[in-house]
Amino acid sequence: MGTRVFGDGTAAHRHARPPIPIVLEHLSRQGGYAVPWISLRHRDGTAILGVVDHDRVRTALVDRWCQTCGRPLRDRIVVLARHQDFAFGWVSEPGMHPECAFYSTSSCPMLTGVLPRHRSHAPAAMREPCGNPLCDCRAWGPPDDFPGRAEQPAERWFAIWLDPAGYRIDTDPVTGRPAVSLAGIRPLTIRPLPATGATADEARTLKAGFASLAFLAGL
Ligand SMILES: [Zn+2]
Ligand SMILES: [Zn+2]
Repeated sequence: MGTRVFGDGTAAHRHARPPIPIVLEHLSRQGGYAVPWISLRHRDGTAILGVVDHDRVRTALVDRWCQTCGRPLRDRIVVLARHQDFAFGWVSEPGMHPECAFYSTSSCPMLTGVLPRHRSHAPAAMREPCGNPLCDCRAWGPPDDFPGRAEQPAERWFAIWLDPAGYRIDTDPVTGRPAVSLAGIRPLTIRPLPATGATADEARTLKAGFASLAFLAGL
């Protein structure tokens, strides 16, 4: 498997490309990667990897589609979350099929530990309008992680496995946008993404937290 310069082309972005699974063969490709369905893109289709299109995020959440392949979710749903998401009780990005989550977590540089810090500036393809007068890119604001998370250390990530009843979409009161509510969920399991520094002990503690909340709610 080859390596390729990902994102802005700095050495830290060098990253082995995982094979693209059959379930993602319908997606466009960029630099050897399948472009997630929710990625922001210029009118000619050029995607900004790592930046989401909020209209697509909303559609995927409300219609219960997988954020990676853009197809309806089924009986097992994987939601990726950080400690801060557990603390606030909301996840802003849609869930995924397990096989799509596997591809995402093995290709996204923030999830494979390739990038120790958040990027210091917006991707070049986002900063510079593409020149097509019909493209929305002139109106794009900065990515959500700017400037707040710029250059902050990368977070530890966990995969929450849910059944369809546990995958509830509501309006996050802070952002005013639809999001996955973690309130009162009973995860099937919570697994760490070890490449991000997350550990099995932390995942167990997080899962136990939901179990004790469910117990208290049942008293
Ligand atoms: Zn454009
Ligand atoms: Zn999928």
